[in-house]
Formats: sequence, structure tokens, C-alpha cells
Amino acid sequence: MERLRTLLKKIDGRGYKAYKELKGSYQFHGYRLTLDHVQGDPFARPSRISIHVPSSVAPLSPEFCSGRIRKTAAEDFLARGVARAIQAHVKGQRGIGKSGEIRIETSGQQILVRNSVLIDSEGIEARLTVGLPAAGQTIMARDAEEMFFRELPEVVAHGLYFENLDKGSFQRHVESAEDQHYLRGLLLPNNLAAFVADNSLLPRQSGIDDRPLQGKKVVPFVAPDSLACTLVLPNRGKVRGMGIPRGVTLIVGGGFHGKSTLLHALERGVYNHIPGDGRELVATDPTAVKVRAEDNRVVSNINISPFIDRLPFARNTTNFSTENASGSTSQAANIIEALEDEAALLLIDEDTSATNFMIRDERMQRLVVREKEPITPFLFRVKEMYHDLVVSTILVMGGSGDYFAVSDTVIMMDSYRPEDVTLNAHGLVDREQVQEKLSDLPPIVRKAERRPDAGRLNPVRGKKEVSIETRGIDTLLYGRHEIDLSKVEQLIDIGQTRAIGLIIHYYAINYADKAGNITEGLKLALKDVEEQGLDILSPWKTGTLALPRLHEVAAAINRMRAAG
Ligand code: ADP
Ligand code: MG
Repeated sequence: MERLRTLLKKIDGRGYKAYKELKGSYQFHGYRLTLDHVQGDPFARPSRISIHVPSSVAPLSPEFCSGRIRKTAAEDFLARGVARAIQAHVKGQRGIGKSGEIRIETSGQQILVRNSVLIDSEGIEARLTVGLPAAGQTIMARDAEEMFFRELPEVVAHGLYFENLDKGSFQRHVESAEDQHYLRGLLLPNNLAAFVADNSLLPRQSGIDDRPLQGKKVVPFVAPDSLACTLVLPNRGKVRGMGIPRGVTLIVGGGFHGKSTLLHALERGVYNHIPGDGRELVATDPTAVKVRAEDNRVVSNINISPFIDRLPFARNTTNFSTENASGSTSQAANIIEALEDEAALLLIDEDTSATNFMIRDERMQRLVVREKEPITPFLFRVKEMYHDLVVSTILVMGGSGDYFAVSDTVIMMDSYRPEDVTLNAHGLVDREQVQEKLSDLPPIVRKAERRPDAGRLNPVRGKKEVSIETRGIDTLLYGRHEIDLSKVEQLIDIGQTRAIGLIIHYYAINYADKAGNITEGLKLALKDVEEQGLDILSPWKTGTLALPRLHEVAAAINRMRAAG
């Protein structure tokens, strides 16, 4: 600690590069501070530091971090505490560029596996970034000293010392996460695709603000009796809620009655949420995939023939590629890819679907005979997908009654309240009718045959052998590829985008040539990451990664252009 103080005195007023001398470890009262990487100038990416608090100094109660789920929740809780402590104790701007800022990466409303705070038997490690202060290119060592000797000790004490933490909130955080994980595990044994507990608060502040909508007008969720079930969670005990059975479920209702809001909550139900979010007890099959139309997306070597065949000029669709898919083609590819990734539940909203992919009504079927229509609407396959492949669908469809005949459950949203209208809907249709049309359709193949060729996964760009960057959460720059992830709706954190790039590289090196197909290879790569931690992905120490699901990693590879 004194050595750092002396070094700072020595480099005060010198050129920025002299900060490099600080690299190394320093023992503070109660923790060790390490400068892992020192930035080259005040506008560059800020310096990376790590803080080790040994368990001998600030032991965590074991019940707060035993087991994978509790540990992840505890790490999440600590990272948020550090972020709050930074808000409270760090002055911020102290010169040009990033001078003075101290940051830690945390999640939004969800609890994700990250590497900004890690707990192990030896203690807690937190990874932060620090903008080393400068005026022009001149080191402002006195400001740096304040950051290291006044601000950071406060951040560590308030964010990481167990004795200073709010034990009640901490306990709620880990117990809630554990319940959510457990609830997700109860779905399959109860033959459910999803569950929404009574009193859940689904609406959000806005499309870009994932925090709960506040105020008296928010209508809490209440399950209709006929779909209600009661499940028992380890911490919270009994919860009543709406069980959405596996099979084909329709969500109907007038415009603005809360259909899409319910579906969005289900999309996020694959993740655990922080207490107070309102969606803590909304659980969805962990493999659920939101499927939508995605005009202009890249498609590479996908068998979309189950939905699209007999194109004009006999263009083959069993191994289909395009640089800019249409609405229906992209939605077909998205479904086939979801099946490859072993999705057991598809989530679809009419708002983001291609109409000609979803339905074709009686009159149109009579006018345009089947031989002249390449598209087989989802309508004709959704039932088969459940019966033959055990893939359930939850579909928001307010504009057409065609799906009544193929649905198992129909839920109507009425002023944000769900009602079970299955019997009414089935009373309106002849349920045998649609079945007959299935006979001569190309088979749906679940397994990916392909393995992306290693050349395509080479992250080389110009002189850099490995160039993997992100531009916001939605764009992954992998080698010479620019991958658009803006329509991959269950990708929720830029840390996941960063990790996806690194996982693709890891997969390319370790498994691309060995594994049977792309799905198998990615599963092996993700297994390594889950078992050994996100750190195996990066050659240097970072705290900026968050774990994505298999589906989101595959989605990125699937959106790479064939030629780099
Ligand atoms: P739909 O898809 O049926 O047209 P939306 O789900 O888009 O309807 O919801 C319409 C509006 O109602 C949105 O602004 C949403 O925030 C709001 N909303 C949804 N659910 C609730 C609720 N439970 N309480 C209050 N407002 C809600
Ligand atoms: Mg809607």
C-alpha cells in the first residue's frame, strides 16, 4: 500500500505512460488491490483492477453462497452492492476522458452468471475498471491517490464486507433465485411449458426500460381457476398461479389487453429475476426460444423445406442460404434453428411474425392452389411439432381464429386478466379439419447436419489474429464478420454478447472439428464454461462477461455470412 503511494508521488506530473509502472499488487487493510492492466492514455479503455477480500477478513455466511444457484445470486448481489457503493462514494470525472471513473459490470433486472464478482473458498474477488486521471497527457497523481486511498476503500467496505451488508436483502436475493430455479425445474414434471404466479407484475416501464411499470393502474396477474395450480417452492412454500400446459397454447384478446406483455414476460422467464422485479415467479421452460420474422437476416445452409419448398425455378430449400431473407423465410429459418438447438418451447407473437408464414385462410387456399404456394404456414405444422417432436408453442394471435382448431389451450387476455376460453374457442371450429392437410409435407428434421467450416470461424482481421469486439449489445464484430443480433430477443446483456464472441472462438479451437454437429460442439463448449467459469474464455483478466444460453450463441453463428 505504501509502495503504491510512493510510486504515485514519483510519477505525479509525468506523461501518462508512466502510469504503467503501477501494474502489480498492493496489500491494503483488509484486501489486496491488483492493477491487472494499465490503460495507455486517458481516452483508452479504462484500467482493469481486481480486489481480493480473503474469507479470513470478511467471511460470507455459507448459507448465502452454497451451491451453484445461490453462489451466482450472491455474486450478483455483491456486484450490485459495489455498484451502489461506487455511486455513493466515488466522485467520478476528475480530468479528461475517462479520468476518475470507477465501474463494475452488473446485470439489469435479471440475475446472470457473470465474472465481475467471483466467490470461492478463499474469499471474494471483484473486478472493476478505473479511469486513471490526467489533465491532457499529464498524470494527476493526487487524484489517483484519492481514488485508491479514499474512494476504493469505501467501495470495498460497503460493497464487499459481509458485516456491512443488509443481511435481509441478501437472504431474500439468494432464496428468491433458488426458488425461481426450482420453479423452472417443476415445469416438466407437472407437464407445464410455463407458469405465472398470482400477483406477478408483468408490464415494464417501456420497450427499452425493463424495470416494472409502477402505479395504481398496474393490474396484478391472477390465474383463472381452470388453469390454476399450486406449486411448492423450497423457501417461499406454496405459490398459486397459472400453469400453461405443454402443447399448443394460444393467447388471444383485443388489442392493448396485455397479450404481448404476457409473452415478453414468458420470454424472460428463462432467467432468474431480482426481488421486486414483478416477474420473479414467471417461469418458462429453460430452452424456450422467441421466434420472429427477421427480414434481411443472413441464412446459411438451413433446411427450411418443412415450411418453404417448391420455390419458383425449383430452387432447393433443403440446404438454403441467402444474404437477406424475407419475412417468412427468416421466420422459417429461426424455427428450424431453434429446433436444432433443442428448444422444447417456441414463443411467437403475431406482432413480430410474417402473416403469410402464420396463416393462409380458406378462401386464399381455394384461389391459390397448394402447388403454387411455396409456403406451408406454421398453422399446418404446429400440432405435428408437439405430437411428433414434443415442441410446445405459445402463440399470441388476436387477429385470426384459424389456430383454434390446432390449439390445446386458449387463454384470453381481458383488461390484463387471463381467462380460460379453450372450450368456447373449440366450440367454434371443426377440429378434425386441419389434420387432413398434413399428409404430403416434407419432414421436419431436428438435428443439424452441418458443422460450420473452421475458416468461417477464424477471428482474424487485418493484422490482428484474434479480433472479437462488440458494438452495443446487438452487434458482434467477429474477425471480418459483422453479426446483427438485434432481433435475437432473449439476448439481454452486452456481457453475453462479449461472451458469445469468445465462446465461438473457443468452440472453433476446441470442438468445431471434433463434435458431430454444431449443436453438440457448442454444448461441449458451454459445458466447459459452466464448469470452469467464464474466465477460461479470455486470455486476460476481465470482469465484463455474462453467460449466454446455447440458443443465443448458435444464433450468432447462424447469422454469419458464408464468405467473410
Ligand atoms: P396487446 O399485445 O394485447 O396489444 P400489450 O401487451 O402490448 O397489448 O399491452 C398494451 C399496454 O398495456 C402496454 O402499454 C402495457 O404496458 C400495458 N399493460 C400490459 N399489462 C398491464 C397490466 N397488467 N397492468 C397495466 N398495464 C398493462
Ligand atoms: Mg401485442
